[in-house]
Amino acid sequence: MAGHQARRTTQQRHQPQHTIHAAGEWREAVSGATREILDPADGRAFAVVAEGDEKDTDLAVAAARDAFDHGDWPRTTAVGRAALLRRVADLLVRDRERLGLLESRDTGKTVEEGRVDVDCVVDAFRYFAGLIAAESPGRVVDAGSPDVHSVVGHEPVGVCALITPWNYPLLQASWKIAPALAAGNTFVVKPSEITPLTTVALIGLLAEAGLPAGAANIVTGPGHTVGARLAEHPDVDLVSFTGGLASGVKVARAAAPTVKKVALELGGKNPNVVFADACATEEGFDTAVDQALNAAFIHSGQVCSAGSRLVVEESVRERFVAELARRAGRIRLGRGTEDGVECGPLVSEQQRAKVEDHVAAALAEGAVLRAGGRRPDPGDARPAGGYFYEPTVLDGCHREMRIVREEVFGPVLTVETFRTEDEAVALANDTEYGLAGAVWSADLARARRVAARLRHGTVWINDFHPYLPQAEWGGFGRSGVGRELGPAGLAEYRETKHVYHNLAPRPVRWFTG
Ligand code: NAD
Repeated sequence: MAGHQARRTTQQRHQPQHTIHAAGEWREAVSGATREILDPADGRAFAVVAEGDEKDTDLAVAAARDAFDHGDWPRTTAVGRAALLRRVADLLVRDRERLGLLESRDTGKTVEEGRVDVDCVVDAFRYFAGLIAAESPGRVVDAGSPDVHSVVGHEPVGVCALITPWNYPLLQASWKIAPALAAGNTFVVKPSEITPLTTVALIGLLAEAGLPAGAANIVTGPGHTVGARLAEHPDVDLVSFTGGLASGVKVARAAAPTVKKVALELGGKNPNVVFADACATEEGFDTAVDQALNAAFIHSGQVCSAGSRLVVEESVRERFVAELARRAGRIRLGRGTEDGVECGPLVSEQQRAKVEDHVAAALAEGAVLRAGGRRPDPGDARPAGGYFYEPTVLDGCHREMRIVREEVFGPVLTVETFRTEDEAVALANDTEYGLAGAVWSADLARARRVAARLRHGTVWINDFHPYLPQAEWGGFGRSGVGRELGPAGLAEYRETKHVYHNLAPRPVRWFTG
């Protein structure tokens, strides 16, 4: 992120916010450094936050450690923890408009997308509250003797470091914070340095809901200082990271010497496989095109599970791509806070430059431009300083192209074609990632058959993008390690413990002397 919003400032037009929270206190960075947060729609600063570093990180970890070792939260009953999570959900509902708008300013997404994010976050807090409230405290196992009572139970892991990206700041933080708290942990969260504002707001809501001081801590600041220190810190017991593959590898490496638990949610290069039979009726065709558009371009394609690879049966390719390109060209781009805008800008100048570089390379490698491929003209809803880029469709793509293999994380859809079911499966699985994918077919047996063969953590049949808090989310291959959401998403934040109670102890006489 260096070089993007990462301007350290000496003169601020905005009052710096105290965005570092440790041991229940809000404060500025120990160094006094600050960072401007830019609105991606016009490139102008609209907030200033504390720019923490290793010193701030150590203070926050010490607060979380103390709260875990001596505080009330890890010793709060499941019923008490569930009640707090439900209060947080209620506060999020109360603040839905404020948070949705803040997420839009921070990331560039539309306010409506920001509101939907808040709704999903509410669902996650309620889901984990329900999960722990309904659980039995342990599993009694048969030890083979009536004189033994043996129970397998769960305990919190300890101090959790939670590191999150810029595309879904509130959502990604909540998918970690809700289960971490549900399990009774304390934590330090480090949001992306360029989009920290809704995570800061969430920490405020946790305090308002009555979470004891020190259980929730936040350090705003960069990955190479705050994030790296969290990953290596000897007093951190678990690091859960969501972000890019390269950073994830660094986190895993930094965490290894202290043998902490590591969970990684990384990138994706997600295939959207469309069989011709899905397009046999006008309604089917319209639905598949509409959802392919949504899969690729929502939030300007800055979605880990974006359907950025259209894998379409050769016989319908031309008609499908022509309609897709026509509709892509009609997507209303603009500032996310404007009425009627359907797609916001990219998050940063750097991200747009990366997208432009990928598109230029693809065209040089022989891709055929069917839509977009340029910055739009500025307009009333599109200030010249904003990081806008037109939804782009690249036809005639194949595996050897960099754009088909690497995550672009922008509004770019590549088109590959197949003739047989086997070929479709081979193309869909031909990626080092394995986060998500979809199959479109009117033949239900074929759809299920193909879904079963896809090596991806989530597979949608005749749909794209929905996820459920009660269903695990995560990837095969280099899309990550571990799962978020669902029972496995809670298990990430727990240690399993077996207590074997001998009710009638006697000498064993193994040693006879
Ligand atoms: P990024 O890897 O640049 O940064 C993610 C976070 O890690 C940020 O908070 C950053 O400051 C921090 N970080 C960077 N270097 C670090 C280091 N050496 N040690 C510790 N922390 C470090 O990713 P990004 O550009 O913010 O987000 C986009 C990426 O996130 C994409 O690859 C996307 O696919 C991925 N993502 C994955 C999921 C998922 O559920 N699998 C969800 C959202 C985003």
